[in-house]
Amino acid sequence: MLLETLSNAFGPSGCEDEVRRLLARALHDKVDDLQTDALGNLIAFKQGIGAGPRLKVMIDAHTDEVGLMITRIEKNGMLGFQAVGGIDPRLLMAKGVVVGEGRIPGVIIAPPVHLTKAAQRKQVIEIDQLVIDIGTSTADKARELVQMGDYAVFDTRFQVLSEDGLRTAKGKAFDDRIGCAVAAALADGEYPVDLCLSFSAQEEVGLRGARVAAFRIEPDLALALEGTVCDDTPKKEDVSPTTELGKGPAITVSGPFLRRRQTFGAPLDRGRRCPWPALPNQTTWRGGYRCWCHSPVQGRRAVGRCGRALSLHSCPGEHGQPQRL
Ligand SMILES: [Zn+2]
Repeated sequence: MLLETLSNAFGPSGCEDEVRRLLARALHDKVDDLQTDALGNLIAFKQGIGAGPRLKVMIDAHTDEVGLMITRIEKNGMLGFQAVGGIDPRLLMAKGVVVGEGRIPGVIIAPPVHLTKAAQRKQVIEIDQLVIDIGTSTADKARELVQMGDYAVFDTRFQVLSEDGLRTAKGKAFDDRIGCAVAAALADGEYPVDLCLSFSAQEEVGLRGARVAAFRIEPDLALALEGTVCDDTPKKEDVSPTTELGKGPAITVSGPFLRRRQTFGAPLDRGRRCPWPALPNQTTWRGGYRCWCHSPVQGRRAVGRCGRALSLHSCPGEHGQPQRL
C-alpha cells in the first residue's frame, strides 16, 4: 500500500526527498510530465481527454511532516534539538526517533521520575530542556553519526489496526501522506480536465511549497487534500465540531486562510453534501487545511478536502482512516 510506504518515509519540512522519490516512482508511467521545482515541490501533469479548451485543476497534498532539527551536541553525546513545525512538547518525552541520513535511532530523554519532585512532574518540560540519546557517551562519538542541522523524525512504523469495516491504521505523518496517497491514486484515472498533482514541500513551516506551486500551475480550480482535526476522546458533553470516524472525508468550510462560504458554491448548497453522491462526506468548520491557492493566483477557487487523522502532529499515536476518493 502506497500510504504505508509514504507514512514510513523520512520527510520533515525541507527534507522531503525520500517522499518525493517514492511518489515519482509511483507516478512516472501514469502522467505526461513530472517535474521537481527549486523548493522541492513535485508537480505531475496529466492531460485531460476530449477536445479543448479544458479546465486546469490542481490537486495539492503536502509531502512534509513535523520533525526535529539537531541544534546542539552536548559533551556527553546527547543531542539538543528544536521543533520543525508545530509539535506539542508534552508529547515528546520518551519517544523514539531516527536522526539524520544514517537514520540513527535514538530516544528523547528527560530526568527520571526518581529524581524529580511531584511539582516538577506536573510541569511541561520545554523542548530546549529535552535531549536525544543515541547511545554515544562523547561529543566526538556523536559527531561521527550526526551533524548539527540534521533532521529527526519519530520512529514509528505504519500498522493496520483493523482490516474489516473501517480499515483503521496507525502511523506517523498521516498529515499529509494520506493526501499524497489519494492524490497519487488520481493519476490512474482519465478526466475531461487537465490534472496537475502538486506534492508540495514545507507546509508545516509556513505553507511555503503550495503557494509556489499554485503560482507555477495557475489553476482554474484547486483542491487541497489534507489531514484534519478530530476529537474522539471521551467527554461528558460532546460540543466538538470536529470530524468522526467512518463518516468519510471532510470538506473544510472555515480555516485560517478561508473565510468565504461562497468559495464552496454548489457542494454546500446541496444540503452540505458534496456533488459526488456515492461518496459519504462530512463538514468541518475549523482547524482544517490552508486553501492558499485562491489568494496568490488571481482569486482562483479553492476547496479543502480532508482525511481524518487523530492526534495530529504527534508521535506514534497519529492515526486515521485511510480514505479513497
Ligand atoms: Zn497537513
